[in-house]
Order: sequence, then structure tokens, then C-alpha cells
Amino acid sequence: MSTLTLRGVRKSFGLLEVLHNVDLELEDGGFLVLLGPSGCGKSTLLSIIAGLEPASGGDVLIGERVVNDVHPKDRNIAMVFQSYALYPTMTVERNMGFGLEMRGVPTAERDGKVLDAARLLQVEHLLARKPGQLSGGQRQRVAMGRAIVRDPELFLFDEPLSNLDAKLRVEMRTEIKRLHDRLGTTVVYVTHDQVEAMTLGTRVAVMREGVIQQLADPQTIYDRPANMFVAGFIGSPA
Ligand code: ADP
Ligand code: MG
Repeated sequence: MSTLTLRGVRKSFGLLEVLHNVDLELEDGGFLVLLGPSGCGKSTLLSIIAGLEPASGGDVLIGERVVNDVHPKDRNIAMVFQSYALYPTMTVERNMGFGLEMRGVPTAERDGKVLDAARLLQVEHLLARKPGQLSGGQRQRVAMGRAIVRDPELFLFDEPLSNLDAKLRVEMRTEIKRLHDRLGTTVVYVTHDQVEAMTLGTRVAVMREGVIQQLADPQTIYDRPANMFVAGFIGSPA
């Protein structure tokens, strides 16, 4: 079954069309990377999937359901951005559980879920701290924990590692891969980093100027790039 389907999705800002007829399908448990240069429309596409921006045309389906007119909070999606806006005055524990708190999930159930996520991300010793007392990598883990506790159908990541230094980026990349393997969640992950795309994705969509140039598994993209742009961007020998 497909968790995510896009059919002919278009987006214009004024006269400028930045997404042209985007079609894609992502199977349950898949890890799709949207890869492309800055300005090609990756964040816009992710925002449309999340419901933060309306599309100018086309359909977004989550599972079997067309969600074009469904509010973001009713889409069963969790999003992790590069600027992980944690609430500075709340503890890590409350930050992670806040979404559940807002939904009226009982305290005991909420605490259990927060603790499970904190263990998984190895931040359980930090639950009483405030975000200001954490390193960048720790904050990123908390931001992911906050997404995990909501048990979403679909995870969206928008360049979550681009604010981290090179060493931490590799560490967090491994962490995200491990989480995906452990939880079996469906992920759409935006990056302009080829190595990140090729190591994380089960499927990679290479984008240029609002058009998906090729959507395939990483090996196929590397071995048989669809055109010169893909070959050049991936750095494959074709
Ligand atoms: P990426 O995430 O791949 O870097 P974006 O999706 O942010 O690209 O942007 C794609 C194009 O849409 C760019 O040309 C950008 O300037 C334009 N764009 C994005 N958001 C807006 C907006 N709110 N208003 C006008 N133009 C926008
Ligand atoms: Mg972007």
C-alpha cells in the first residue's frame, strides 16, 4: 500500500510556477529522499504534503485519503525542520510531550511515550533540562523525539542536519537510519546533499526547477542516471 501519493501537483507563487505536475508514490515504510539544488522546490513540495501551503493544482493522498482540504494537524504527519523550534522555557520532557498534552492524552500515557522515545534517542538523562542547556545534536534528538511520540503515519524532514557540523551530521544520519529501521515509519526527507540522499534513501527523487527528473532506488540513479543533469548532480560516472 502507498502511504503517500502525489498526482499532478503544481504550485505557483504569483506568475512563477515553481512545481510543475509532480507525480510520485511512496510505499508504506519507504524512505524517500527529495534531492536537488537550492531553489528547485523541495521545501515547497514538503509544505504542500504537510498542508502548510495549498497546492495550485493536483492531489495529495495520504493512505487512501485525499487530504487537499485537510488541516495539517489532522493529516497524521510529523515534520522536523533544520531550525528545531523547541520551547525554551519548557523542560525537554514537556517539549517532547507537548503535542500529546494539547491533544488531551492522559499524563500517564504521555509520560510513557515520552520515556520510550527518549530512550530510543538516548536523551533520557536530559529530560529535566531546558533546551538552552543542550548541544545542537541533543536538541536535534529532542526535536525528533517530539515527532516520534505522536506516532505519525508519515515523517517529513526538511534538511534537518544542515545546521550541524560535519561529524555530528554523520552521527545523526546514522541515527535517522536506525530509527527508520527500528520503527518502520514512512519518511520523506529533503536534502541538497548527495551523500545523505544516497545513504539514507530507499528511493531518491532528483529534482530540478520544479520537475522530478528521476525517481528510483539509489543504485539505479547512480548506475543509470536518466539524463545529464542527474548524472552531474549525483557525480556518477555516466
Ligand atoms: P528548495 O527548498 O529546493 O531550496 P523552495 O521550495 O524553498 O526550494 O523554493 C522554490 C522556489 O519557490 C524558489 O524559486 C523560491 O524563491 C520560490 N518560493 C518559495 N517560497 C515562496 C514564497 N512564499 N513566495 C514566493 N516565492 C517562493
Ligand atoms: Mg528548502
